[in-house]
Amino acid sequence: ESQSPGQKEFYQAAHEVLYSLMPLLKEDERYDYFNILERITVPERTIIFKVNWVDDHGRIKTNFGYRVQFNSAIGPYKGGLRFHPTVNLGIVKFLGFEQVFKNALTGLQIGGAKGGSNFDPKGKSDNEIMRFCQAFMTELYPYIGETQDIPAGDIGVGPREIGYLFGQYKKITRQFEGVLTGKDIKWGGSNARKEATGYGSVYFAENILNKYGESLEGKRCCVSGSGNVAIYTIEKLYEMGATPVSCSDSKGTIYHENGIDLNSLKAIKEINYQSLEVYAQVHPDAVYTPVSHYPDGRHMVWDIPCDIAFPSATQNELNLEDAKKLVDHGCMLVNEGANMPTTPKAMEYLKEKGVWFGPGKAANAGGVTTSQLEMSQNASMAKWSFEEVDIKLRQIMRNIFDTAYETSVEFDCEGDLVSGANISGFRKVADSMIDQGSV
Ligand code: NDP
Repeated sequence: ESQSPGQKEFYQAAHEVLYSLMPLLKEDERYDYFNILERITVPERTIIFKVNWVDDHGRIKTNFGYRVQFNSAIGPYKGGLRFHPTVNLGIVKFLGFEQVFKNALTGLQIGGAKGGSNFDPKGKSDNEIMRFCQAFMTELYPYIGETQDIPAGDIGVGPREIGYLFGQYKKITRQFEGVLTGKDIKWGGSNARKEATGYGSVYFAENILNKYGESLEGKRCCVSGSGNVAIYTIEKLYEMGATPVSCSDSKGTIYHENGIDLNSLKAIKEINYQSLEVYAQVHPDAVYTPVSHYPDGRHMVWDIPCDIAFPSATQNELNLEDAKKLVDHGCMLVNEGANMPTTPKAMEYLKEKGVWFGPGKAANAGGVTTSQLEMSQNASMAKWSFEEVDIKLRQIMRNIFDTAYETSVEFDCEGDLVSGANISGFRKVADSMIDQGSV
């Protein structure tokens, strides 16, 4: 910690992974001999750059840009870009570190990376977003490429931003190549990429439930967030016969007892970039609670009775007090759509109370999985139908579940998918590092 102070989210993520590796490290001395723990917790390369851009009033603004290329032992760097005012090096490192194990767990040949900026897209015009994306890519482009590092979206980076980033990459390099994923279908994107993380999260939950003789049919589900992951989690939950009753954004929470109206939600968030207050105006029977009225120290979404919780907004959004409320209400499963949304204490409590848990590293891996399918299509100039991609996604989510579950059995912690996911992801990356020598 003395080498990189103030990166609390990164230490939180590293602590969780390293702690769960203990049984493996005891069994196999090679990891110690080859100093894998130290090598795997230091990124291979960290790029920090200044992004100057001009706002609509002609003023020059300055933001930080980051790309942390964490590990390339099993494939080219892959991971999203996040544009949010809270972004700093510690956040990008936590996300990059998680990505290494997540990508390994998918069974695909992709290394781990993450990037972003403290730029806040909220309240900016389309032209301002475009100028920012162009300035960001002008700095980033020398470090990325279709076999080198392939960024994607994350919080604040959706199809619009990917479009502007791609356009600038193409202009500078004069290469039309699959350097970014999450592209529009018209110019190289994959069917079902937009839906993939949310759909994949629901498929993962389905696997857990089926393992214990349960299903999604008739379940009341609380979803947090109202971005890409949350929207397509809600869409798939309806398709599976469940009822999603909540969503949230940074300003407040919606509780709609009869079920969230997906069309309204998409119009508000994907087309008009508005706040959820508008949802409550359109649906007077829905209850809107602004952040200022949240229960003390808790998140409103987890105050709503549900069978299954899908935290799908951001890190550390479900704390110990929230977990207690979920248990009081009889919640049977917490399935992480977001990255590290559950605090360590909340995780411990849920485990103690026997609540099933789908860790983000596994449960939200559908996004990067489908990004890799987009890369395959780009490389072979193919275009697969929505159904083809969706079938592959569902199968890969099944494989991820099986791998995490079987690893938990192998290490005498049956059903502990956190340990199962961490150990199996680590083993693949660490063994590859050993094969490749001291690079
Ligand atoms: P979006 O930007 O599309 O949506 C994020 C949502 O979370 C918005 O509703 C946003 O509210 C809310 N939110 C963000 N930050 C905060 C905060 N600090 N406090 C309260 N609410 C917040 O992002 P995604 O849906 O893509 O990402 C959500 C999560 O899923 C992240 O953890 C991301 O890393 C993870 N993830 C995403 C993948 C993807 O393919 N997109 C893949 C794997 C993981 P508001 O609109 O008000 O800002």
